[in-house]
Amino acid sequence: MTESRRQFLSQLIAAGSACAATPLFAAAPLAAGMGLSVHRMKLGSFEVTTVLDGFIELPTAVLQGDADVIKRAMEAGGLAAAPIRTAVNCFLVNTGAKLVMIDCGGAKMLGPTAGRMPQALAQLGISPDQVDEVYVTHMHGDHLHGAVTPEGGKVFPNAVVRIAKEDVAYWGSPAVEAAAPENQKGRFIAAKRAMAAYGDRLQTFELGSELTPGIRSVPAVGHTPGHSCYLVTSGTAKLLLLGDTMHVGPVQFARPEITVMFDFRQDDARKRRQELFEMAVNEDMLIGAVHLPFPAIGRLRKRDAGYAYEALPWQMY
Ligand SMILES: [Zn+2]
Repeated sequence: MTESRRQFLSQLIAAGSACAATPLFAAAPLAAGMGLSVHRMKLGSFEVTTVLDGFIELPTAVLQGDADVIKRAMEAGGLAAAPIRTAVNCFLVNTGAKLVMIDCGGAKMLGPTAGRMPQALAQLGISPDQVDEVYVTHMHGDHLHGAVTPEGGKVFPNAVVRIAKEDVAYWGSPAVEAAAPENQKGRFIAAKRAMAAYGDRLQTFELGSELTPGIRSVPAVGHTPGHSCYLVTSGTAKLLLLGDTMHVGPVQFARPEITVMFDFRQDDARKRRQELFEMAVNEDMLIGAVHLPFPAIGRLRKRDAGYAYEALPWQMY
């Protein structure tokens, strides 16, 4: 052993015994809030990353249906009477050929508890200018505001934003907005801001069409006039991203007939939810949804007259 190496080792041993002799009792400051939440998994050869934008709170009155059924489902699901705290997630799919953002969160337009998607992307080491395409399930603010900066610019400067043509026709129509009740005019703000920010880079598609190899629109009209789910497929792995097919898991999985007041056409929303839940079970698809608890990916099983949700165990890769 050389002299310098012997010296180094004896310093190391001395340092170690100093540490052992002097335990630390330093108090750490409280963090006051949650850390940024991202969860990445493999889906076939794709990567799917859930990005938690934050949460919003819904009054229980948003649930529509038999009051006793709702009350019992809330109790069985362990939900406090009010308000219902609801996650807002976005999904980033890397197909290997394209980086696709599916829904964008609510920015700070819906209050201070959402709008963390940009910081979460930064934590992943992803810059918004790397995103090639943005697919939006529908033009409500908690899915679309996050695509636009507070100043009205593009959050994703190189992306094409794609939305079903029926949703753009409805939420982008000055005539429809003019005819809407005064207390619903605010629902058009997200669409107007996104259309102004992206111009001809906001493009429509036909419900049910394939948008890029491995990602297909699945029609889910009912929540809005052009509500689209997305089926992500790589090899035999399938993930059905449900958009706003459900809002309150503990209630609507067990009792899928319960709707929410934001459902544009209640009967269609109810019927389509039941059909899509059934499809996910029969075809053994993973499901993901914006308003499921982070990381918002799991499976449905049949249970009684409804369904049970089993969150996917977190996985590292
Ligand atoms: Zn929503």
